[in-house]
Amino acid sequence: MKTFVYVDHFKGEVQPASWEALGLGKSLGSVSAVVFGSGLDAITKAAFEYGADEVLAADDAALTDFRAEPYAATLAALASSASPDLILFPTTARTRELAAMIGVDLNTGVLTDVFELDASDNQLVATRPIYEGKVLEKVVCSGKPVIATIRARAFPKPEADSGKSGTTTKVEVKSDALTEVAGYSASESAVNLGDAGVIVSGGRGVSNNPSLQPPAGLDEKQVEIWRAQQGFALITELANVLGGAVGASRAAVDGGYIPYSHQVGQTGKVVTPDLYIACGISGAIQHLVGMRNAKLVVAINKDADAPIFKQARYGVVGDLFQIVPALTEAFKKKLGK
Ligand SMILES: Cc1cc2nc3c(=O)[nH]c(=O)nc-3n(C[C@H](O)[C@H](O)[C@H](O)COP(=O)(O)OP(=O)(O)OC[C@H]3O[C@@H](n4cnc5c(N)ncnc54)[C@H](O)[C@@H]3O)c2cc1C
Repeated sequence: MKTFVYVDHFKGEVQPASWEALGLGKSLGSVSAVVFGSGLDAITKAAFEYGADEVLAADDAALTDFRAEPYAATLAALASSASPDLILFPTTARTRELAAMIGVDLNTGVLTDVFELDASDNQLVATRPIYEGKVLEKVVCSGKPVIATIRARAFPKPEADSGKSGTTTKVEVKSDALTEVAGYSASESAVNLGDAGVIVSGGRGVSNNPSLQPPAGLDEKQVEIWRAQQGFALITELANVLGGAVGASRAAVDGGYIPYSHQVGQTGKVVTPDLYIACGISGAIQHLVGMRNAKLVVAINKDADAPIFKQARYGVVGDLFQIVPALTEAFKKKLGK
């Protein structure tokens, strides 16, 4: 099978799921990494190291900033002439737009958010979650090429081979862009939960430590938020020791404890870390649909009957304000930090 893998990046920083897609493509046959942007030498080198048989690069100032129109026009023209069987993308906001546009241009179907791809029986059968993960759908695409966006961390990342190199072919750019990027500004709190191997999450329980004495002059709501911030400081410290990210329940976000970008669940992010530690989170279904595909769930909750314990491999019934710092200290010792 001839597979193209689109390597998604922002200013040269590659979305790690691009390499996971490359590993998946390689397991199916020959794989060409498709790299668009400007100043692509480092990405091209990495693409070979992660297993690309060749790199197809559109390295052009007109593609410095991602815009769907020139990227889709360039990719659709490339795919039309090279006729791959399969085009894989990591699932990101950019590639959802791009895959949909080239699906229309190439008159084929797009399978999104795929986390299993079975190539036996001479047909690609993709598995993807629907209805907030309540149902897993098996889906095939009868058009050609098959286009699929794969979920981050669903497929193994290949080992990089630093000695590997290969041939880079220049791709002709179709730069009929109607939009232009005027600039970028950092969002209030950039957090990449999708790629995190470890997530430590806090819920409404992080505000529940009546023994913490707040500064004078705060009203009731401000005291609640101040207490929650002390709780999230403990959660952040544990996440940092484990090299992980900080997540949150919607109650914590709605309570003003932490920005929305940290929210896990039906109306937040769907995450698949190796380890998910839920602290002071009850385990409502809307939260569970966002984290139940984590490989290992640990729950810390005062209430032994909290539903989160049904999802957890390990549970600690207790006060997170005691358990989380104790865990942090234990991991520091264990990891020599
Ligand atoms: C349409 C819709 C979409 C939604 N989307 C989402 C979503 O994306 N994500 C999401 O999370 N929710 C979502 N919700 C909300 C969801 O239903 C729950 O209300 C929410 O998940 C509850 O958050 P929580 O577990 O932090 O709070 P609670 O349910 O109040 O649980 C707090 C937990 O903390 C424990 N606790 C208290 N103090 C301590 C302590 N000191 N130490 C240890 N444990 C303690 C308590 O025992 C309790 O179990 C959605 C709801 C709707 C209707």
